[in-house]
Amino acid sequence: MTKKSDEKPAPCLFGEAVCAPPAKKGGLLAFSYSKLSLYEECPLKYKFKYIDKIKEEPKFYFAFGSAIHAALEFMYAVKAPPFPTIEEVCEAFRREWGRKSYLEKGYRTQRKADDDFEKGLLMLKAYYEHNRARLAPPFLLEYSTDVEADGLLVRIIADKIEYQGEGRLLITDYKTGKDVKREPAQLYMYQKIAEMDPRLKEKIAEQYGERVSSVRIGQMLYYHVPTNKEYHFDRADDREIGAFWERVLGVADSIKGLKFEPTPGERQCAWCDYKSMCPAFIGGQLPPPPAAAATSNIEELVDRYGRLKERMDEIQAQLAEVAASIAGASKDGGEYSGSSYTASVKKGHKWEFRDREAVIKVLNQFDLYQKAMTLTLSGITGVLESEGIPEEARKRLLEQAVKKTSVDIRVTRK
Ligand code: SF4
Repeated sequence: MTKKSDEKPAPCLFGEAVCAPPAKKGGLLAFSYSKLSLYEECPLKYKFKYIDKIKEEPKFYFAFGSAIHAALEFMYAVKAPPFPTIEEVCEAFRREWGRKSYLEKGYRTQRKADDDFEKGLLMLKAYYEHNRARLAPPFLLEYSTDVEADGLLVRIIADKIEYQGEGRLLITDYKTGKDVKREPAQLYMYQKIAEMDPRLKEKIAEQYGERVSSVRIGQMLYYHVPTNKEYHFDRADDREIGAFWERVLGVADSIKGLKFEPTPGERQCAWCDYKSMCPAFIGGQLPPPPAAAATSNIEELVDRYGRLKERMDEIQAQLAEVAASIAGASKDGGEYSGSSYTASVKKGHKWEFRDREAVIKVLNQFDLYQKAMTLTLSGITGVLESEGIPEEARKRLLEQAVKKTSVDIRVTRK
């Protein structure tokens, strides 16, 4: 978990290859979540960093995050208990911290660096205490893989992966910055790529002796280390992943088309190291937004969005129809073969809840909010189906619930 970027380190080529084409490996565009988010922040910033390979200044918050990740990696890197003591974990943090001077880490003063070092030790002690009772050796740590998808070579680096059996994975991403509301987009990237990655199946067979036909995300979570808060996300459905992937392909198309127009804004420019060479940031001032251009651009975007949405709705409708037909024609646990694909079918039930507010009211009234952990469908279903809840609470939750048959179809190409 030492390396938080999902990129290989780029050499400093200041001033060289200003108009070089995007990096391609074997004809594929090397891509990652970091690249997606940087391009969406500002395409020109992306170009300075990834095409021109102009090195950014070191950032102290990355150095801090890296050292915490290194200590957590050290803590979990055991095949079986006992785990390292908290003193050993703090020593791993100290070792990582000492590899660079405060300036190399991006601090302006030694004192600020020392303050953060102390903060890091306290954070690790609190983490250790909070998790002591449930420490278990994970399946994989800092798992890095490159997977080919739609002309892209996509890299993910997952901090921690736990195996839940039957091909299901729990992926954890550690966060050490501010406790802000996070979008699940980075987790969508993990899901999309992990489920396509053939190496994971091999690793499951090696480590657990289990041969699985496919790998599937069970759950994903952001773990905020400074507060020990967990933000759980259920596996995203095909519609969410489809929309996310259209977004990825749209950005990849723009990069391949060498579209690197700057998109200045207070937030992105404030932390940008390329201001001095950016035509949109002259004399420390941002130019007023180009209203007319933005309007025509948004018209194009609206049309494109509409077209994509129509296509996606159509595909979703077809998928739902075919899945319903398979469900009707198959048995629970059955394996079926076409000429190109095989499918395994599992049937079960799922709950849907009519009124979210009413469910929250019941959870609060019976002090079950904590038990649900998160207000995801699986969190609430877990409460509803657990044995230790008052019957009145179960009855009130059932009033909001609708039981439906679910079908899980796992398809693999032959
Ligand atoms: S200064 Fe602003 S507009 Fe210019 S590259 Fe940086 S983020 Fe983009």
